[in-house]
Amino acid sequence: MTKSLPSHVRVVIVGGGVVGCSIAYHLAKLGWSEVVLLERKKLTSGTTWHAAGLIGQLRATLNMTRLAQYTAGLYAGLEAETGMATGWKQRGSISLATTRERLQELLRGASMAKTFGLEIHEVGPADIKKRWPLLNVADVVGGVFLPKDGQTNPVDTTMALAKGATMRGAKIFEGTKVTSIKSSRGRASGVVTERGDIEAEHVVIATGLWSRWLGKSCGVNIPLQACEHFYIVTEDFPGLSADLPVLRDPDHCAYFKEDAGKLLCGAFEPNAKPWAVDGIPEDFEFGELQEDFDHFAPILESAMRRIPALEQVGIRKFFNGPESFTPDVRYMLGETPEMKRLYVASGFNSTGIQSAGGAGKVLAEWIVGGHAPMDLWDVDIRRMQRFQTNKRYLAERVSESLGLLYAMHWPYRQYESARGARTSALYERLAERGACFGETAGWERANWFASNGIEPHYVYSYGRQNWFSCAAAEHRAVREAVALFDQSSFSKILVKGRDAERVLQGVCANDVAVPVGRIVYTQWLNARGGIEADLTVTRLAETEFMVVTSTVCGVRDLDWLQRHIPDESHAFAVDVTSGYAMLSVMGPRSRALLEKVSGDDLSNAAFPFGSSREIEIGYARVRAARITYVGELGWELYVPTEFARNVFDAIVNVGDGFGLKLAGMHAMDSCRMEKAYRSWGHDIADEDTPLEAGLMFAVKLDKNVDFLGREALLRQREKGIAKRLVQFALDDPEPLLYHNEPIWRDGRIVGRITSGAYGHHVGRSVGLGYLQNDSGVDASYVKEGRYEIEVAGARHAARASLEPLYDPKGARIKS
Ligand SMILES: Cc1cc2nc3c(=O)[nH]c(=O)nc-3n(C[C@H](O)[C@H](O)[C@H](O)COP(=O)(O)OP(=O)(O)OC[C@H]3O[C@@H](n4cnc5c(N)ncnc54)[C@H](O)[C@@H]3O)c2cc1C
Repeated sequence: MTKSLPSHVRVVIVGGGVVGCSIAYHLAKLGWSEVVLLERKKLTSGTTWHAAGLIGQLRATLNMTRLAQYTAGLYAGLEAETGMATGWKQRGSISLATTRERLQELLRGASMAKTFGLEIHEVGPADIKKRWPLLNVADVVGGVFLPKDGQTNPVDTTMALAKGATMRGAKIFEGTKVTSIKSSRGRASGVVTERGDIEAEHVVIATGLWSRWLGKSCGVNIPLQACEHFYIVTEDFPGLSADLPVLRDPDHCAYFKEDAGKLLCGAFEPNAKPWAVDGIPEDFEFGELQEDFDHFAPILESAMRRIPALEQVGIRKFFNGPESFTPDVRYMLGETPEMKRLYVASGFNSTGIQSAGGAGKVLAEWIVGGHAPMDLWDVDIRRMQRFQTNKRYLAERVSESLGLLYAMHWPYRQYESARGARTSALYERLAERGACFGETAGWERANWFASNGIEPHYVYSYGRQNWFSCAAAEHRAVREAVALFDQSSFSKILVKGRDAERVLQGVCANDVAVPVGRIVYTQWLNARGGIEADLTVTRLAETEFMVVTSTVCGVRDLDWLQRHIPDESHAFAVDVTSGYAMLSVMGPRSRALLEKVSGDDLSNAAFPFGSSREIEIGYARVRAARITYVGELGWELYVPTEFARNVFDAIVNVGDGFGLKLAGMHAMDSCRMEKAYRSWGHDIADEDTPLEAGLMFAVKLDKNVDFLGREALLRQREKGIAKRLVQFALDDPEPLLYHNEPIWRDGRIVGRITSGAYGHHVGRSVGLGYLQNDSGVDASYVKEGRYEIEVAGARHAARASLEPLYDPKGARIKS
């Protein structure tokens, strides 16, 4: 490979594992020259060389599945393209269930796969035994078979990607360690290596386990931590046929594959061991870690029950190698919020081989095109919070993350490790009153309040979980009396300056040139009309606005806004989330309650819907905003954090007289679903436009300022839309919707549920989802169809509606 380093290139990719090589391959394939990959030791010498090479394609979401499907197709053709063998074999895979609940999980996955066009078959124990004759299936209740899944040789595949890249002009330098990233005016401008500097227009960190440290050296947050990861390889295994599908036994944390006449058995144990918390040894190269037989023994014991012949075969290799894991078991991709033109592709949670093809393709397209080519929010680095690189937090969390790959993916499942990191000022008050907390972006948020002898912890199932009746009572309080939510975790951004209005007008699709004290619900669009953010903007003063967005979108939305403030503008955006607690008082009795505690006039005339001003509560002055995410009369109260408890006490002290109930995020979700309020990241994202999402009421195409995305919307309005977000309600009150359930129209799958919940007021499950039709979706198309939603293989009749099921005219909000 080439000797002397160039002084200036277009892209430097740091890291020569499967991911870095895939990015180089795809950039070269897109026709970019001057692409350089730098590897500190030898290609594949980090984690890639020892991967088991399983290539599964069914992932948790549509786009992640698409990327994994792409990977499989890429690897299948790489040998013909490059002349280098990859070891790719399409043998299929079986996942088996030993409990009814696991079978339900697999069947829900199979239903979801139908909407992705991925071939998947339900298989019974006898069929599984036929495909894997050595198995003991006595405890197996069923499973699924994916014929297109496969396996590959990670080293050979990486080398083929590297060859494909160099064939097209990319250059690879081994033995070249990058010691820091150079930047100029907030942009990456090159790298410093032990062999000299390279100026570059774009830099990519694809350094696997090492990424956290390389990021830290330039102030970039890349929260990942290595864990020890184990498998064993047996001696020659008699009777093991060469065409066996990969086998996953998630209930026993194990996977199996045939490997040149031997059996490889790997583990996803629930109590993983973090490795090298303080830094990776400098000489680590093709490294192996110390065996830990005691740690692996429980997996091996159940593996012997699953494949009894394993007891008779010796173990040739006990392998332990490091792999990086992230706090939410999803990898990190994209341009960093801290430094422009610096990209990350790291933290692959033991799916790096199967993810590398797709991740490399979309990152290359992102770099070339200047934006993500599809909705990649699942893995977007901007979901990560700064505190998440905290060493102790990471070590505790990844001990849990690794096992979650094979753990039950229960609806509403909460992390158990590293909890209590971020708490609102009301945390203790809520805990005393029975709150059961969930975690979002590190924040502890009351999801529901235990009542009627139910303990405040989750008992999971695919059916009605233990908190169902608690959330139902909270939901009813919102609809019939009044409820108090603690929404302090919501992200708040202050935008100030002489040009604040001008900047926001260019970014917001709605008109924010409003009088002081008005609240505007708006989307931020990209140049293609896709929804980058969904939030409210309140004018606090002539030159001051407050943007409120969801908890997880704070980093992303601030980044988007800051990127769109022109250098010469006098406008500044800062995150002020920690400065304000946020209490929402929602329900038909909210006015009476708040008038009593504040003494202010909150009548329609004095305080109309969509307005915001200061009122007094307790000893505090708080900003009250008449707006709602639950579809009722109500106010959000923005309270300086140090006054939060005082204000809370004042409200709760008079609450009984009004039927006040504390309510959590689950009730908020079920209320917003009845009202068909969209949730960014679920129902709307950067691939969906307001025309498709039914949000044109919040877009002012004719405001006298051009805004980002306007042109694209005008073009789309002219051309017509091929998908439309619609609300559904099941006829049968029994089944529960979560997300990704297929939508059938007149016997054909036309979409999937993007979010679902039980509507306690309407007495049935409700969902939102896009109807897709190439020749257009209009009101009559929606009305004329006969709909069913598929849940775990069974189809249930549903009603579709373009208007919210609950209070379609919004009379209650304005009451
Ligand atoms: C036991 C085990 C089994 C696995 N099985 C599977 C499987 O079946 N399927 C699957 O999809 N995945 C599997 N994986 C996961 C997979 O191996 C990883 O996700 C993948 O290899 C990560 O690739 P990478 O390119 O991100 O990292 P790496 O392969 O670690 O590459 C990063 C490279 O960056 C280099 N580098 C670091 N710092 C610098 C620097 N400063 N300058 C220059 N270069 C630098 C390193 O030397 C290294 O070569 C498994 C992992 C393990 C441990």
